Amino acid sequence: MVRVLFIGECMAELAPASTPGSYSLGFAGDTFNTAWYLAQLCSQADVSYFTAVGEDAISGQMLDMMSTSGIGTEHVQVIPGRSVGLYLITLNAGERSFSYWRGQSAARCLARDAAALGAAQSRADIIYFSGITLAILDRQDRATLLDGIGKARRAGKEVVFDPNLRPRLWDSPSDMTEAVMQAAAVSTMILPSFEDETSWFGDADPAATVGRYCQAGADTVVVKNGAADVHYRDSDAHGIIEVEPLSDVVDTTAAGDSFNAALLAGQMAGWSRKFSIETANRLARHVIQGKGALVQIDQSLIDRFA
Ligand code: ADP
Repeated sequence: MVRVLFIGECMAELAPASTPGSYSLGFAGDTFNTAWYLAQLCSQADVSYFTAVGEDAISGQMLDMMSTSGIGTEHVQVIPGRSVGLYLITLNAGERSFSYWRGQSAARCLARDAAALGAAQSRADIIYFSGITLAILDRQDRATLLDGIGKARRAGKEVVFDPNLRPRLWDSPSDMTEAVMQAAAVSTMILPSFEDETSWFGDADPAATVGRYCQAGADTVVVKNGAADVHYRDSDAHGIIEVEPLSDVVDTTAAGDSFNAALLAGQMAGWSRKFSIETANRLARHVIQGKGALVQIDQSLIDRFA
């Protein structure tokens, strides 16, 4: 078993239901989505989530959902007086818009206890986090998290980072880019999306994104680019993998998150990077043809990893 520890925030989601004016409750969040897909895909992965929740009923429901999805909750901290973050999806002529209530979520305190973080990391083979994980923490907790992850990398752990640049969650774009490059410096594998990277780092093309993150210290960089080619580099190879563009996209939520999960599952299955990326494209393509972040996966795709 490969033990994979995901660090981040899972939120409650209210999405419009079929009866007008009613909403259905779900749970999602970038790192959580990747954990969920990995747990579905890969029976060799022992997936657990490091976060914080409250003591209330919705926090309990979130933990139950994680457990029934095969995601371990032994590293979830409980913070009295806080609850989980929430977002609401509104549909306007088919366009989705999001309202968030996450400013006081328990997950904002996830890195307050350095000992808990150290203990969880010491039991993991792979640690996974994102730019959103960094964005929700205050400066001191962010430093604690990056310090802990740096130690884990020096101890030989694989550290996987998706920059997931979300300027609205940061005080300023420069705070965001500075923290992301600090995170890149403690990561072994970086999985950015070119659209974000060119907007906030000014990369001229995906090759420039690959080069910048390799220079920061990563062994492997895989750059997603929507319907365009995926660019990658690792210690054995580098290359470009074509994406078959899909015109009737239903909902792009979790395209990158699901892609990352399949890439990790492919690595665990011992596949070549090229084949792992091709399979990741296939999963992301399936996910954007369904509604919401967590889309049921075809058994035929799961069987590929068995
Ligand atoms: P993110 O969700 O992080 O913004 P991207 O939009 O870059 O990620 O997409 C991630 C992956 O989803 C792509 O590498 C590709 O495999 C798939 N994908 C996204 N958009 C399309 C599309 N229009 N057609 C086919 N595949 C797509």
